[in-house]
Amino acid sequence: MKLFVAGVRGSTPAPGSAFVRYGGNTPCVAVSDDRGTRLILDAGTGIRRVPEVLGSSPFRGTILFTHLHWDHIQGLPFFSSLDREDANANLIVPEHQDPLGVLRQVMSPPYFPIDPTEMRGSCSFASLEEGDHQIEGYEVLARRVPHKGGPTFGYRVSDESSSFAYISDHNPAAIGEGPDGLGDYHQAVMDLVEGVDVLIHDAQYLASEFTSGALFGHATAEYAVGLAEKASVGKVLLFHHHPDRTDDELDAVGSQLQRSGLSVEVAKEGEVLDVSR
Ligand SMILES: [Zn+2]
Ligand SMILES: [Zn+2]
Repeated sequence: MKLFVAGVRGSTPAPGSAFVRYGGNTPCVAVSDDRGTRLILDAGTGIRRVPEVLGSSPFRGTILFTHLHWDHIQGLPFFSSLDREDANANLIVPEHQDPLGVLRQVMSPPYFPIDPTEMRGSCSFASLEEGDHQIEGYEVLARRVPHKGGPTFGYRVSDESSSFAYISDHNPAAIGEGPDGLGDYHQAVMDLVEGVDVLIHDAQYLASEFTSGALFGHATAEYAVGLAEKASVGKVLLFHHHPDRTDDELDAVGSQLQRSGLSVEVAKEGEVLDVSR
Protein backbone atom coordinates (compact mmCIF):
# COMPACT_ATOMS: atom_id res chain seq x y z
CA MET A 1 0.00 0.00 0.00
CA LYS A 2 0.98 3.55 -0.66
CA LEU A 3 -0.56 6.46 1.21
CA PHE A 4 -0.98 9.90 -0.32
CA VAL A 5 -1.21 12.29 2.61
CA ALA A 6 -3.49 14.91 1.11
CA GLY A 7 -4.39 16.97 4.20
CA VAL A 8 -2.81 17.08 7.68
CA ARG A 9 -4.30 20.12 9.42
CA GLY A 10 -6.80 19.80 12.25
CA SER A 11 -10.00 21.71 12.94
CA THR A 12 -9.93 24.32 10.17
CA PRO A 13 -7.72 25.05 7.15
CA ALA A 14 -4.56 27.06 7.78
CA PRO A 15 -3.60 29.18 4.79
CA GLY A 16 -0.62 31.55 4.80
CA SER A 17 3.13 31.66 4.45
CA ALA A 18 3.81 30.18 7.92
CA PHE A 19 2.03 26.92 6.97
CA VAL A 20 3.35 26.21 3.48
CA ARG A 21 5.82 23.40 4.15
CA TYR A 22 3.53 21.15 6.22
CA GLY A 23 0.35 22.30 4.54
CA GLY A 24 -2.93 23.86 5.58
CA ASN A 25 -5.55 21.46 4.22
CA THR A 26 -7.69 19.43 6.61
CA PRO A 27 -7.54 15.61 6.93
CA CYS A 28 -7.56 13.28 3.96
CA VAL A 29 -5.44 10.21 3.16
CA ALA A 30 -5.74 8.26 -0.10
CA VAL A 31 -4.75 4.58 -0.21
CA SER A 32 -3.28 3.16 -3.43
CA ASP A 33 -1.91 -0.16 -4.60
CA ASP A 34 -1.45 -1.87 -7.95
CA ARG A 35 -5.24 -1.87 -8.35
CA GLY A 36 -5.29 1.92 -8.20
CA THR A 37 -6.71 4.35 -5.65
CA ARG A 38 -10.02 3.04 -4.36
CA LEU A 39 -10.04 3.96 -0.69
CA ILE A 40 -9.97 7.46 0.80
CA LEU A 41 -10.02 8.19 4.50
CA ASP A 42 -11.87 11.41 5.34
CA ALA A 43 -12.85 14.21 2.98
CA GLY A 44 -11.28 17.28 4.52
CA THR A 45 -10.16 20.03 2.20
CA GLY A 46 -7.10 17.90 1.38
CA ILE A 47 -9.30 15.71 -0.84
CA ARG A 48 -8.98 18.46 -3.46
CA ARG A 49 -5.40 17.19 -3.94
CA VAL A 50 -6.32 13.53 -4.53
CA PRO A 51 -6.65 14.11 -8.31
CA GLU A 52 -2.84 14.42 -8.18
CA VAL A 53 -2.67 10.63 -7.72
CA LEU A 54 -5.73 9.76 -9.83
CA GLY A 55 -4.56 11.78 -12.81
CA SER A 56 -7.29 12.05 -15.43
CA SER A 57 -9.16 9.00 -14.05
CA PRO A 58 -12.45 9.29 -12.21
CA PHE A 59 -12.64 8.17 -8.58
CA ARG A 60 -14.37 4.81 -8.20
CA GLY A 61 -14.25 3.49 -4.68
CA THR A 62 -15.05 4.20 -1.06
CA ILE A 63 -14.69 7.28 1.10
CA LEU A 64 -14.53 6.18 4.71
CA PHE A 65 -15.16 8.86 7.32
CA THR A 66 -13.76 8.73 10.85
CA HIS A 67 -16.55 11.11 11.87
CA LEU A 68 -18.47 14.06 10.49
CA HIS A 69 -16.85 17.15 11.96
CA TRP A 70 -16.46 19.96 9.43
CA ASP A 71 -12.73 19.46 8.98
CA HIS A 72 -13.37 15.88 7.77
CA ILE A 73 -16.18 16.54 5.28
CA GLN A 74 -15.80 20.00 3.83
CA GLY A 75 -13.69 18.97 0.85
CA LEU A 76 -16.27 16.48 -0.44
CA PRO A 77 -18.19 18.71 -2.89
CA PHE A 78 -14.87 20.03 -4.24
CA PHE A 79 -13.43 16.59 -5.08
CA SER A 80 -13.24 16.99 -8.84
CA SER A 81 -12.50 13.28 -9.51
CA LEU A 82 -15.90 12.44 -8.01
CA ASP A 83 -17.84 15.37 -9.46
CA ARG A 84 -18.00 13.84 -12.96
CA GLU A 85 -20.46 11.51 -14.66
CA ASP A 86 -18.13 8.50 -14.86
CA ALA A 87 -17.28 8.48 -11.14
CA ASN A 88 -18.87 6.62 -8.26
CA ALA A 89 -18.32 6.37 -4.55
CA ASN A 90 -19.69 4.62 -1.52
CA LEU A 91 -19.62 7.08 1.37
CA ILE A 92 -19.37 5.27 4.70
CA VAL A 93 -19.96 7.03 8.01
CA PRO A 94 -19.71 5.58 11.51
CA GLU A 95 -22.83 4.56 13.38
CA HIS A 96 -25.54 6.74 11.89
CA GLN A 97 -28.89 5.20 11.00
CA ASP A 98 -29.43 7.66 8.16
CA PRO A 99 -26.00 8.26 6.59
CA LEU A 100 -27.31 10.44 3.76
CA GLY A 101 -29.53 12.42 6.10
CA VAL A 102 -26.71 13.18 8.48
CA LEU A 103 -24.48 14.47 5.65
CA ARG A 104 -27.40 16.47 4.28
CA GLN A 105 -27.71 18.29 7.58
CA VAL A 106 -24.58 20.28 6.71
CA MET A 107 -24.47 19.87 2.93
CA SER A 108 -27.73 21.27 1.58
CA PRO A 109 -29.33 24.73 1.27
CA PRO A 110 -29.11 27.11 3.02
CA TYR A 111 -25.67 25.91 4.21
CA PHE A 112 -24.47 24.78 0.77
CA PRO A 113 -25.94 25.04 -2.74
CA ILE A 114 -26.23 21.30 -3.39
CA ASP A 115 -26.75 18.16 -1.36
CA PRO A 116 -24.52 15.04 -1.56
CA THR A 117 -26.72 13.34 -4.17
CA GLU A 118 -26.32 16.26 -6.56
CA MET A 119 -22.64 15.74 -7.28
CA ARG A 120 -22.19 14.44 -10.81
CA GLY A 121 -20.67 11.12 -9.72
CA SER A 122 -23.01 8.41 -8.52
CA CYS A 123 -22.87 8.16 -4.71
CA SER A 124 -24.24 5.60 -2.30
CA PHE A 125 -24.33 6.03 1.45
CA ALA A 126 -23.78 3.51 4.21
CA SER A 127 -23.26 3.29 7.93
CA LEU A 128 -20.55 1.22 9.58
CA GLU A 129 -20.58 -0.57 12.91
CA GLU A 130 -17.57 -1.42 15.02
CA GLY A 131 -15.70 -4.58 14.02
CA ASP A 132 -13.97 -6.26 11.10
CA HIS A 133 -14.96 -5.36 7.56
CA GLN A 134 -13.82 -5.97 4.00
CA ILE A 135 -13.72 -2.68 2.13
CA GLU A 136 -12.32 -2.34 -1.38
CA GLY A 137 -10.30 -5.52 -0.90
CA TYR A 138 -8.70 -4.35 2.36
CA GLU A 139 -9.28 -5.70 5.82
CA VAL A 140 -10.59 -2.83 7.87
CA LEU A 141 -10.98 -2.91 11.64
CA ALA A 142 -13.19 -0.12 13.00
CA ARG A 143 -13.11 0.73 16.69
CA ARG A 144 -14.79 3.58 18.52
CA VAL A 145 -12.34 6.04 20.07
CA PRO A 146 -13.11 8.84 22.54
CA HIS A 147 -13.50 12.23 20.86
CA LYS A 148 -15.83 15.08 21.53
CA GLY A 149 -19.12 15.38 19.62
CA GLY A 150 -20.59 12.39 17.79
CA PRO A 151 -19.42 8.84 17.14
CA THR A 152 -15.79 8.65 16.02
CA PHE A 153 -13.88 5.66 14.68
CA GLY A 154 -10.23 4.84 14.35
CA TYR A 155 -9.34 2.42 11.55
CA ARG A 156 -6.77 -0.27 11.01
CA VAL A 157 -6.31 -1.08 7.31
CA SER A 158 -4.41 -4.18 6.21
CA ASP A 159 -3.56 -6.02 3.03
CA GLU A 160 -1.58 -9.27 2.66
CA SER A 161 1.74 -7.64 3.43
CA SER A 162 1.30 -4.43 5.41
CA SER A 163 -0.95 -2.45 7.70
CA PHE A 164 -1.53 1.04 8.99
CA ALA A 165 -3.75 2.67 11.59
CA TYR A 166 -5.52 5.97 11.04
CA ILE A 167 -6.67 7.69 14.22
CA SER A 168 -7.10 11.28 13.21
CA ASP A 169 -9.12 12.55 16.19
CA HIS A 170 -8.71 10.95 19.60
CA ASN A 171 -8.95 12.14 23.18
CA PRO A 172 -7.50 9.32 25.30
CA ALA A 173 -7.53 11.55 28.39
CA ALA A 174 -11.32 11.28 28.35
CA ILE A 175 -10.93 7.66 29.51
CA GLY A 176 -8.16 8.12 32.06
CA GLU A 177 -4.78 9.67 32.75
CA GLY A 178 -2.74 6.67 31.66
CA PRO A 179 0.82 5.96 32.81
CA ASP A 180 2.25 9.19 31.36
CA GLY A 181 -0.61 11.43 32.46
CA LEU A 182 -1.52 12.17 28.81
CA GLY A 183 -4.31 9.67 28.34
CA ASP A 184 -5.09 6.01 28.64
CA TYR A 185 -3.62 3.39 26.30
CA HIS A 186 -7.05 1.79 26.19
CA GLN A 187 -8.05 -1.51 24.63
CA ALA A 188 -9.76 -0.10 21.52
CA VAL A 189 -6.74 1.95 20.51
CA MET A 190 -4.35 -0.92 21.24
CA ASP A 191 -6.47 -3.21 19.01
CA LEU A 192 -6.14 -0.67 16.20
CA VAL A 193 -2.45 0.00 16.58
CA GLU A 194 -0.64 -3.11 17.85
CA GLY A 195 2.17 -3.98 15.45
CA VAL A 196 1.11 -1.83 12.49
CA ASP A 197 3.76 -0.64 10.07
CA VAL A 198 2.53 2.95 10.15
CA LEU A 199 0.43 4.81 12.71
CA ILE A 200 -1.18 8.11 11.71
CA HIS A 201 -2.32 9.76 14.93
CA ASP A 202 -3.84 12.93 16.30
CA ALA A 203 -1.07 15.23 17.58
CA GLN A 204 -3.02 18.46 17.86
CA TYR A 205 -1.51 19.46 21.20
CA LEU A 206 1.81 19.22 23.03
CA ALA A 207 2.28 17.91 26.55
CA SER A 208 3.34 21.40 27.61
CA GLU A 209 -0.12 22.63 26.58
CA PHE A 210 -1.88 19.86 28.45
CA THR A 211 -4.17 20.88 31.21
CA SER A 212 -6.91 18.49 32.12
CA GLY A 213 -10.06 19.13 30.12
CA ALA A 214 -8.42 21.66 27.81
CA LEU A 215 -7.67 19.37 24.90
CA PHE A 216 -10.97 19.87 23.08
CA GLY A 217 -11.28 16.22 22.22
CA HIS A 218 -7.71 15.67 21.01
CA ALA A 219 -4.39 14.06 21.91
CA THR A 220 -0.83 15.26 22.41
CA ALA A 221 2.09 14.48 20.12
CA GLU A 222 3.84 12.86 23.09
CA TYR A 223 0.89 10.48 23.60
CA ALA A 224 1.05 9.47 19.93
CA VAL A 225 4.76 8.64 20.27
CA GLY A 226 4.20 6.80 23.57
CA LEU A 227 1.42 4.76 21.98
CA ALA A 228 3.62 3.86 19.02
CA GLU A 229 6.40 2.69 21.34
CA LYS A 230 4.03 0.67 23.49
CA ALA A 231 2.39 -1.00 20.47
CA SER A 232 5.58 -1.88 18.54
CA VAL A 233 4.73 0.33 15.59
CA GLY A 234 7.29 0.82 12.80
CA LYS A 235 6.63 4.47 12.12
CA VAL A 236 4.40 7.13 13.66
CA LEU A 237 3.16 10.07 11.66
CA LEU A 238 2.10 13.01 13.82
CA PHE A 239 -1.13 14.29 12.26
CA HIS A 240 -4.05 16.71 12.66
CA HIS A 241 -1.78 19.64 13.48
CA HIS A 242 -3.22 22.54 15.41
CA PRO A 243 -4.29 25.25 12.94
CA ASP A 244 -1.97 27.76 14.67
CA ARG A 245 1.11 25.47 14.64
CA THR A 246 3.58 27.00 12.18
CA ASP A 247 6.11 25.18 10.01
CA ASP A 248 8.97 26.21 12.30
CA GLU A 249 7.09 24.98 15.36
CA LEU A 250 6.36 21.66 13.66
CA ASP A 251 10.06 21.30 12.78
CA ALA A 252 10.82 21.69 16.49
CA VAL A 253 8.17 19.13 17.48
CA GLY A 254 9.68 16.63 15.06
CA SER A 255 13.21 17.04 16.35
CA GLN A 256 12.21 17.01 20.03
CA LEU A 257 10.28 13.76 19.75
CA GLN A 258 12.82 11.53 18.03
CA ARG A 259 13.15 8.09 19.67
CA SER A 260 15.61 5.30 19.07
CA GLY A 261 14.05 2.26 17.45
CA LEU A 262 11.01 4.19 16.21
CA SER A 263 10.63 6.43 13.22
CA VAL A 264 8.80 9.62 14.25
CA GLU A 265 7.69 11.96 11.47
CA VAL A 266 5.56 15.05 11.32
CA ALA A 267 2.93 14.49 8.61
CA LYS A 268 3.38 16.73 5.59
CA GLU A 269 0.69 17.44 3.05
CA GLY A 270 1.53 15.98 -0.35
CA GLU A 271 3.87 13.24 0.84
CA VAL A 272 3.60 9.67 -0.41
CA LEU A 273 4.34 6.97 2.13
CA ASP A 274 5.16 3.36 1.42
CA VAL A 275 3.47 1.24 4.10
CA SER A 276 6.16 -1.31 4.89
CA ARG A 277 8.96 -1.76 7.39
ZN1 LIG B 1 -10.61 16.73 13.09
ZN1 LIG C 1 -13.23 15.88 15.20
